[in-house]
Amino acid sequence: MTKDLTLFTELVDYLISEEKNNPVATPIDSSLLYDTLDLSFNEDPMIDEDFTKTLKSIIKSTPKTASTSFFNQLFGGRINRATLGDLLAVMLNNSMYTYKVAGPQVGIEKTILKTICNSIGYPNTADGTFAPGGSMSNYMAVLMARDRYNPAAKTQGITHKMTLYTSKASHYSIAKNASFIGVGRDQVRAIKTNDKGEMLASDLDAQIAKDLEQGYQPFFVNATAGTTVLGAFDDVTSISKVCKKHDIWLHLDGAYCGSVIFSDDYKHLVKGIEHTNSFSVNAHKMLGTPLSCSIIVTKDKKHLYQSFSNEAEYLYQTNDDDFNLGKTSLQCGRRNDALKLWTLWKSVGNKGIKNIVNHQFHLADIARDYIKKHPDYTLYSFDNSISVCFNYKDIPANKLCTALYNDAELMVGFGNFNNQEFVRMVTINSCLQEKDIINFFNNIEKFVSSTDF
Ligand SMILES: *Cc1c(COP(=O)(O)O)cnc(C)c1O
Repeated sequence: MTKDLTLFTELVDYLISEEKNNPVATPIDSSLLYDTLDLSFNEDPMIDEDFTKTLKSIIKSTPKTASTSFFNQLFGGRINRATLGDLLAVMLNNSMYTYKVAGPQVGIEKTILKTICNSIGYPNTADGTFAPGGSMSNYMAVLMARDRYNPAAKTQGITHKMTLYTSKASHYSIAKNASFIGVGRDQVRAIKTNDKGEMLASDLDAQIAKDLEQGYQPFFVNATAGTTVLGAFDDVTSISKVCKKHDIWLHLDGAYCGSVIFSDDYKHLVKGIEHTNSFSVNAHKMLGTPLSCSIIVTKDKKHLYQSFSNEAEYLYQTNDDDFNLGKTSLQCGRRNDALKLWTLWKSVGNKGIKNIVNHQFHLADIARDYIKKHPDYTLYSFDNSISVCFNYKDIPANKLCTALYNDAELMVGFGNFNNQEFVRMVTINSCLQEKDIINFFNNIEKFVSSTDF
């Protein structure tokens, strides 16, 4: 082990120097990948020197998500204490299904879940679990809702004509999950948004009424805290009133920006969250832990047991249900995703977590200010969002982002809303500073002035 740990340190040093000196890896065209890197297996073992060399060439070409030039998707950055926790979890290699094999790691997970349940105003009956990502957290939510309103679904399959609701701006996993749970994509109603991308409660109410009239059973509404493109926050309070009126499960998908619950300054963006039935948040997005760290909590833990518990004598050999996390999990064997968040949170405290969240909004303010002050830019996103959407000199966003990537200048993506395409930069890496944001724009300007579009 010691020998490999030494190699590991050498490789990490190499990675960190690459991040600094070549923050955007020169991309390898996918058609040339297998010709460029030695990825196939051989009959004989590889000698150590070649092994190290191969690993280094792979590291060199792998996109650097923690670099100061990465603004591409809704994660990134590296917070050391979180990375430390994840490395430790790999070394410990527990599975989270029972107290017998995970011991205090179970307590670590439960502490995080309890703290989150309390901070959003859920009652003592609340509990949750970790899922392998935000899509799977949403899956667990809609599955619990299905089983609550159609308990026979577990044994007989779907027996009702069920419908679910989510805004046009929400994440694609909602439609995908509708197919997984047997309700079907055609039963997903896409609710209109206002011009900021926030779901319209009035349209939701009207759509539900229409479905009821036609004999459907509306059972699930998904609201979003941080829509994928614009980073908009649906109005939970007004949506929850519609759900209450019709007795429908309300889930809040906070994969992207649900972490605002950790900041007194931004918690107001999810006002009314205590009226939801379930809530999910990805710590691997705003909190900057390594992938993946996704949490789902529900107001009444009986729904977790109803949908996910199974008797298994070979597994549950101690009678401590509350500590046998396998009974409330989507999986059987389950990776320890809690420790990395715990090491981060324990080391920086509640205040540190709050600062991580606030800093991202601060960086977004810096970016929006820059855009507003420079007439060559057009802004398409809004305040209180860490997605900053813009165009520069009317260059098609798709073209600009692809050219920046091909020339190893910047990693940034594009998106669209209401048929308008734009560059979407995200200020989700809390390790960045103001100067990195200014550099981002300066790099675009320099690049454009030396390129033909
Ligand atoms: C990222 C995201 C998801 C999916 O989360 P994964 O961890 O990538 O599966 C779901 N919903 C929203 C709003 C997201 O931003």
